[in-house]
Amino acid sequence: MSAPRRVSVLGIPVDCVDMARTLTAVDGMVAGGLPRTILAVNPEKVMKAQHDPVLRRALDGAGLLIPDGIGVVYAVRMLWGERISRVPGAELMPAICGLAAKRGYKVFLFGASREVNEQAVAKLQRRYPGIPIVGHHDGYVDEAQMPHLIDEINGSGAQILFVALGSPKQELWMEKHLPRLQHVRVCQGVGGTFDVIAGRVRRAPAAFRRTNLEWFYRLITEPKRALRQVALPQFTLAVFRAKLSSRS
Ligand code: UDP
Repeated sequence: MSAPRRVSVLGIPVDCVDMARTLTAVDGMVAGGLPRTILAVNPEKVMKAQHDPVLRRALDGAGLLIPDGIGVVYAVRMLWGERISRVPGAELMPAICGLAAKRGYKVFLFGASREVNEQAVAKLQRRYPGIPIVGHHDGYVDEAQMPHLIDEINGSGAQILFVALGSPKQELWMEKHLPRLQHVRVCQGVGGTFDVIAGRVRRAPAAFRRTNLEWFYRLITEPKRALRQVALPQFTLAVFRAKLSSRS
């Protein structure tokens, strides 16, 4: 299958994929010879990358950029006429785990607190019997200890690595450490997904997800994120401006 079309939203690349296409790409990446990243693109990250060159480099160099936020889906439809749908990172990770259980891909979970990390591993093992989880580590590792963690990941033979450090920390971690990973072929940045799998944080109820208002649910249930969501109106405005200037 040919590579998905890659378009750009305010200068940030996004792949025109749906869930099925993404999983096909994951199979291809595991069979490939190099470690590749899967990063989620949402309005907040697009705005942050405008003035964060390291994050931007990580996004530019990613193997796959999934349209994680509804704002990005609408922007791609409006600017490029591509009828893509959302691929939320929090749904992609369990889907990749299902694939790993089926194909025998070796998985490593890095990130979140020790307790959350262990609970996420236990839940995944229950949900996907036979999934080869070959290692896991919490996300609170100081730089001096990082070489040991890299050795642990390499020693485990993991082919798929989930990194849950939040954004942009996880993107920066990958940018720095990916070249030293020997067997990893797919490295997905999953933000707070371990907390969701562990049952510590609930995703928005179905009604919010169906109506594309998951962002609104998070805003009212986690008010400390409000500051981060200032990026949403800025993003919307910038996309409309881009559309207008492309017309003129
Ligand atoms: N985290 C971590 N190490 C750190 C900072 C954060 O493992 O040094 C974890 C934190 O415990 C949580 C996740 O990263 O599990 C961040 O989740 P958040 O929802 O903030 O990420 P987002 O999806 O918004 O990027």
